[in-house]
Amino acid sequence: METDYLIIGSGAVGMAFADTLLDESDAHVTIVDRHDKPGGHWNDAYSFVTLHQPSAFYGLNSLQLGNHRKDETGPNRGMYELAGGAEINTYFDQAMQQKFLPGGRVSYYPMSDYQGEGRIVSLLSGQQTTLTIRKKTVDATYFSPTVPATHTPKFTVTPGVRVIAPNALPQLWLQRTGQPAPLHFCIVGAGKTAMDAAVWLLRNGAAPDAIQWVVPRDSWLQNRLQTQPGLEFFNDSIGGEADRMVAFAEAKSIDELFLKLESLGQMLRIDPSQTPTMYHYATISTGEVEMLRTITRVIRKGHVRSIEPDAMIMDQGSVAMKAGTLYVDCTASAINLRAIEPVFQDDRILIQLLRAPLVTLSAALTAYVEVHGADEAQKNRLCAPVPFPNDLAGFARATHAGLMNQFQWSQDKALRQWMRHSRLDSFARMVAELDKGDTDRQAIVARLRTNMMPAMANMLNLV
Ligand SMILES: Cc1cc2nc3c(=O)[nH]c(=O)nc-3n(C[C@H](O)[C@H](O)[C@H](O)COP(=O)(O)OP(=O)(O)OC[C@H]3O[C@@H](n4cnc5c(N)ncnc54)[C@H](O)[C@@H]3O)c2cc1C
Repeated sequence: METDYLIIGSGAVGMAFADTLLDESDAHVTIVDRHDKPGGHWNDAYSFVTLHQPSAFYGLNSLQLGNHRKDETGPNRGMYELAGGAEINTYFDQAMQQKFLPGGRVSYYPMSDYQGEGRIVSLLSGQQTTLTIRKKTVDATYFSPTVPATHTPKFTVTPGVRVIAPNALPQLWLQRTGQPAPLHFCIVGAGKTAMDAAVWLLRNGAAPDAIQWVVPRDSWLQNRLQTQPGLEFFNDSIGGEADRMVAFAEAKSIDELFLKLESLGQMLRIDPSQTPTMYHYATISTGEVEMLRTITRVIRKGHVRSIEPDAMIMDQGSVAMKAGTLYVDCTASAINLRAIEPVFQDDRILIQLLRAPLVTLSAALTAYVEVHGADEAQKNRLCAPVPFPNDLAGFARATHAGLMNQFQWSQDKALRQWMRHSRLDSFARMVAELDKGDTDRQAIVARLRTNMMPAMANMLNLV
């Protein structure tokens, strides 16, 4: 059994890497994953999960996701569609079944564990397959977010207290436990999953007063308006980038930067009386923020340590709770904060973020560079990992690293061309395709370019 590239993981990242590698080379690829279908964590997601970002630039470079339509209802109204979990799973499965496997250059081992040194073990039969890897092993598990359905909460729960993952919310009414349906809810966690669970409860009729929300840390949130792909959003997207560069160039501190971005409508926070300390690129609409602001019973006492029938024991004291409260555990972290390493390491590739927060663009670009890069030093120069932020300074660090990469990419003519045509980098395409006679929009691009250098210089001061 031989292959050129062994890819560990058929999540969005492994799939995006494989797709571009297949398109840019004649290589044979073997993909191994413990899941029964491609899509990684999307297989385990709650039914009401969606992308935070428009479908238009998520997934594989070769295959459109969604129909490039705008939502006409709901809190994302007027903006481009966000694929749901089921749609994303179908998309990756179709890519595997209709493109990868029929092409004859892909071997796929689902429900299998990769154990190193070419060894693949079937989870169902224990059968072991050993591969000879002619070129490289590609580790597509660097991000591997934890999701509510598969993680174990860090707090303890007294028997009899009801704690569920968001996955179980839509099935509540189906339960035949003899217990009355819960009328009080407590969402534990403050990330995007918690926001999704809160919006789900509100949109499905729960009264805001019936919801309590444990928020250990407040977060700045990216306004989705600035992530829209269409030309009609040019002032928000590219104009927003230009404004962001001006804010970076002028800010005297990280806190001032975020306040400036908030005044420009780019950064949002749910409670304006709180100063957020976290930034994870969670992306949200103003409609969702308005809904979330109706929940006023917010508990800020650090993390939950244990839940008892009538109280929550927290880092900073205990909180009396109504008996029969249903706790929704949203404490799984979608962010896996691992140290960065070189992407190209002899016969191993470790796919990491090259432009935050676009994981699938980063994976596809890594594959392009693997095929066309001259040598390992040049490949690593083009693919310097971007550290994922966990605090506010991390945003400046990640933006700086991403812009340094962008500068390197712009020096490589072929790569520049590839990016211009890539569906995963819709902003670069939008700028490249801009009509020369469109003086208003060309002025926005010029403003963006003029402010980039001063912004980059100040980013390091801010960090
Ligand atoms: C709710 C949610 C919404 C998100 N929305 C967005 C968004 O809008 N835009 C965006 O860019 N990102 C988003 N993300 C970030 C997300 O991390 C990426 O989009 C992406 O799906 C991560 O894919 P992955 O392939 O890195 O990881 P995973 O999906 O976790 O895939 C890794 C795979 O590797 C397999 N694996 C690991 N080790 C082994 C082994 N030893 N042997 C065999 N198989 C193995 C696992 O089974 C898994 O299937 C979101 C994340 C979450 C949780």
